[in-house]
Amino acid sequence: GDLPSVSATARTIAEAHRRYRGLDDGDIADYIPVLAEADPSWFGLSLVDTGGEVHEAGDVEMTFSIQSISKAFVFALVCQARSHEFVHERIGVNNTGLPFNSVMAIELNDGSPMNSMVNAGAIATSALATGETPAEKWETIRTGLSRFAGRSLDLDGRVYRSEIETNQRNKALARLLESYGRIITDPLDSVDIYTRQCSLSVTAHDLAVMGATLADGGVNPLTRERVVAAEVARDTLALLASCGMYENSGEWLFEIGLPAKSGVSGGIVAIAPGKAAIGAFSPRLDSAGNSVRGQRACFDLARTLGMNLFAST
Ligand code: GLU
Repeated sequence: GDLPSVSATARTIAEAHRRYRGLDDGDIADYIPVLAEADPSWFGLSLVDTGGEVHEAGDVEMTFSIQSISKAFVFALVCQARSHEFVHERIGVNNTGLPFNSVMAIELNDGSPMNSMVNAGAIATSALATGETPAEKWETIRTGLSRFAGRSLDLDGRVYRSEIETNQRNKALARLLESYGRIITDPLDSVDIYTRQCSLSVTAHDLAVMGATLADGGVNPLTRERVVAAEVARDTLALLASCGMYENSGEWLFEIGLPAKSGVSGGIVAIAPGKAAIGAFSPRLDSAGNSVRGQRACFDLARTLGMNLFAST
């Protein structure tokens, strides 16, 4: 079915924003020093449908670093450039059941990066981006994510520098993959590209447009540009359903019933295939790393707007 009327959708967004803007559960991520400067009151909700209709409430133009949400769109670009079989064999598509930066996940699985939504798999995936040099790969990623967003996205240099100085663990994950022969470029070059992609500056509105491009079978509903093939959009959403919300992906799917990806700066993108996408942003996170207000708002929107994939009515 379609979404409810335009006015009912607008009302639902405004109500969800009003209901959760005072919710102060959760903590701001501070393991990347600059993220700790976020204002916990920030809260934006955007919904973009496949017809290009936009509904928003709150801080939808506030910029923040995309962090792990970049992983979904880099996966799509690499899946487009390589193939379904290639990413399945080289990276994998199963959830680790462990935190996003787990060393144990690699060790328990014979050196496999496991999937492109955890750090090890994302670092190995960024290495597969089209380009001869790290600079070319980074440009492929920056321009590709910009096409998903329908505007030119830029690196937040403060976030990049704050993370590159403190991400010894990601460097260790990349070296560990190297020791198993599971990364095709210089590991630290790939960590650098990955850290840049995580530092791209976006808004809740951008996330909704990027997600709506996946909902629309790879075509950006605002610019009408085809960014990836319909099969790639489909495969990306399948991966998000099992791996997009850290080790709470099962609970999220059970409660909300939509493929989604979150990041430690407080963003969430949730996608209803063929219908719409939600972009949510609020910095307080639960223990798995998912925005508390963003999750609650997505729950209400999915229920009220009939977006749950598994509901027959
Ligand atoms: N750049 C962050 C890291 O590698 C992303 C984490 C996240 O959003 O899950 O730690």
